[in-house]
Order: sequence, then structure tokens, then C-alpha cells
Amino acid sequence: MGPRKRGARKRKTEEAFGGEKDGEDTEEKEAEERGDRRRKDRGNKKYIGAHVGIQGGIWKAVESCTEMGGSSFALFLGSQRSWKRPALDQTAASKFREQCSLQELDPAHILPHGSYLMNCGSPKEGLSDTDGCLLQILSLTLLPCSLTFSCLPLSCIGYLIFPTVSCLLTTSSGFCAMLHPDVFEKSQALLVDELSRCSLLGLNLYNFHPGSSLGSITTEQCVDKIAGSINHAHQQTPAVVTVLENMSGQGSTVGGKFSELKSIIDKVRDQTRVGVCLDTCHAFAAGYDLAAEGGVKAMLDEFDQEVGLHYLKAIHLNDSKGKLGCNLDRHEDIGKGHIGISAFRDIVNEPRLDNIPLILETPGRPGFEYAEQIELLYSLCEKK
Ligand SMILES: [Zn+2]
Ligand SMILES: [Zn+2]
Repeated sequence: MGPRKRGARKRKTEEAFGGEKDGEDTEEKEAEERGDRRRKDRGNKKYIGAHVGIQGGIWKAVESCTEMGGSSFALFLGSQRSWKRPALDQTAASKFREQCSLQELDPAHILPHGSYLMNCGSPKEGLSDTDGCLLQILSLTLLPCSLTFSCLPLSCIGYLIFPTVSCLLTTSSGFCAMLHPDVFEKSQALLVDELSRCSLLGLNLYNFHPGSSLGSITTEQCVDKIAGSINHAHQQTPAVVTVLENMSGQGSTVGGKFSELKSIIDKVRDQTRVGVCLDTCHAFAAGYDLAAEGGVKAMLDEFDQEVGLHYLKAIHLNDSKGKLGCNLDRHEDIGKGHIGISAFRDIVNEPRLDNIPLILETPGRPGFEYAEQIELLYSLCEKK
């Protein structure tokens, strides 16, 4: 996901003003248009935006949000590939804060998204990388060797070939987790690091996927680890709210059911610093029927009963490629999936979703990228 539709938006504005305006004039008009849109949006209390990229500097995210006509945005806080990142540059952080105030973007409407590498409920803990790699090589070597044991001449080949194969396999994603047997510790450290980055950027919210048991511990044990990681991070960092995202129920992830989110919250010591972001695609895939008439209201009622609406801090606006209850995390553009446009109309007109970030994470298609989807959603807001 990156900043999209910059060009298109500019072109559109240029067309709207006759197409031949000089740059400065166009920029002024654009800013005016944005200002009007923001004032209008505040009246409606809906803060719609998208997940934007940070290429070229973290402050660029603010620019991208404005350019696509967003009133809120999400962003990653660093590379999705590495556990250890260079410290956040102070100049970059102040540039980010300056941009936010310049563009009148309230930190309450900015929702950083946690790294996908993190699994705060991981059963894998306590071993260093080297130990894990050795263990893995041994286990992968011993298996073929025991298989070839009855056929002595082959066992020699087994000893030669399989360590090589096992090392090659460690580069594939399935074996990657085995290379990181201390994922739990790394995730705890990354959570602390990301919360500190939020503070430096002047942000109050931080959204992340709760975690996965990987099928080797119980859901309860996984919940304990997630809550423990949150408590640990809260102790280490100032007042950023950790926002748990509901999951699609894929594999052994925790958080597909509202009750699982509640069990995590129950174990968090400072409950003023925990919340939930509801992803519409994930909810639908987990079996909450948003496509049914009154589905959005029903889901929010259920959430209120099971978790409590005061914990709802944000919404991820995604249609779903998969059918109801499919447990697949496959986002689709607004109105183009199995959830359908009427659920999104209900969302943007739902008073219980006032004043929180409503963030798109849709794939986008030519002519229907973030800017157009934001525009569409705002057009569905009924005038109050
Ligand atoms: Zn997410
Ligand atoms: Zn998703």
C-alpha cells in the first residue's frame, strides 16, 4: 500500500479550474478545496482516510493523506522486514508533527499499524537464533537419516544432502518462524519500540494484530501472553493506547471472536490504554454478517455487549473478497466484494462511529483508488 492517486487528484482539480492555471494558483485552490472538505467533514464527524506509505520520509504520509482527500490515516512505523530498525530521526519526527498541525490532522485520527512480523502471543520463546538454527538443522537432518538408516549406503548421502536442504528451506517463509525461535521476546521488544515511536511522533493510538498460538499452545495461554506483552509495553512507554485488531479467524490467530478480544482486555492492567479497531473484512470473514440488513448495527450491538463500545477506537474499512464466515483475510475495494455498498452506507451514517479514524486498506483498481473510495464514502454520508 502506498500513496496513490496523487496525479489523478491534481488533474481532477486542474480540470475543475479550467486546466490552465499556473502551479501556485492550483495549489491554493486545492488547499482551499481541502479546507472546505475538512470543515464539512467535521460537521459530519466522520474521519475517513487510508493506509498511506512512508517512502521518502515518515512526514510524507501526512502529505499523501491530504492529497487523497483523507481526514484520517494509517501508516507503518518502519520496515516490515526487519526486527531491528534505526532509531527514529528527531528531525523526521518533528517534520511529521509540523505537517500534521499544518494540515490540521488531529493525532486522534492517526492510527499507526504495527509490524506484521510481531506475534505477541507466540509460543516460541527463550532461544537465540543460533540455538534455533542448530536445533532445526539437527531435527531436519535426523529425520531423513533415520529413514535411510535401514539402507546403509543411502544414509551417507542423507547426511550430506539434508543439512544443505534444511538450510535452504530456512529461507522460505514457512520455515522462517523456526529460524526465529525467540519471536515472543522480539515481539515484546518491537512493541515497546513502536510505542516509543508513536510518542515521538505525537501520536496516541497504536493498532496491532493480537497474535497467534501457531496451534501449539491454547487460546487462553496465547491470550495471557498477549496481555502480558501489552502490560510490559505499558510499563516501558508513556501513554499510548494499544489498539487490538479483530481478526478473520484464519489459522490459529486470536481475536476473530469479540469474546477473545475481551479476554485480552480483561487481563490488561491499565484499561485506559487498551482499545479495539474493528476491521469490516475480518469481521465478515469471521462470521459477523455485515451484508445483512441492519448488519452493521447488529455487529456494533454485539460488540457493545461483549466488549463495550467505549473500547472502540477505530474502524478498518474493507470489503471482502471471501464469503461470510470464510475465515480468509482478503480485502476488496468498497462495494466490490461480498459485504457490499449498503453496509458501508450504514457505517458512514452510524453515530456510534463518530470522531474515530475510519481507515481504508483496500487493494484499489484503476479509476477506483483510495481517493475515489474516500470520495464515494463521503458521498454516502447523509446530510444532518
Ligand atoms: Zn491490520
Ligand atoms: Zn486484513
